[in-house]
Amino acid sequence: MDKGQIGRYLKEKGLMPSVQRIEVYFYLLGNKMHPTADIIFREISEIIPSLSKTTVYNTLKLFVEKGLVSELRTDKSEARYDADVTKHGHFKCRGCLNIYDFEISMNELNNKSLDGFIIEGYQLNVSGLCKECMEIE
Ligand SMILES: [Zn+2]
Ligand SMILES: [Zn+2]
Repeated sequence: MDKGQIGRYLKEKGLMPSVQRIEVYFYLLGNKMHPTADIIFREISEIIPSLSKTTVYNTLKLFVEKGLVSELRTDKSEARYDADVTKHGHFKCRGCLNIYDFEISMNELNNKSLDGFIIEGYQLNVSGLCKECMEIE
């Protein structure tokens, strides 16, 4: 998606396509490492020097509410953001602290213990060491 398309997409979702919102979404689409609000702020304030941290926080909150972005909390302290709202799992490496996406299907989930329940969403977080960090250790 280019910035023009993002503008139209935001409008479709009922949001005013302000420059800040377009930049935040554009950044998230291009950065799959699940940045924190602080990282997003730092990166985008280079493009928009007048940007405030509050605007970034509010924008992210709005995107999450509208279902454009998902918020993940792999730690209690920091929220990370993901423009990929399809169902997928997250692997957090304890070495480099990167978060990697992995695919998972509902069928793979053993939901026998939830017989008769309907699963409407899930967050699957696993942790360990990624390939690169394993080579360093
Ligand atoms: Zn790693
Ligand atoms: Zn993800």
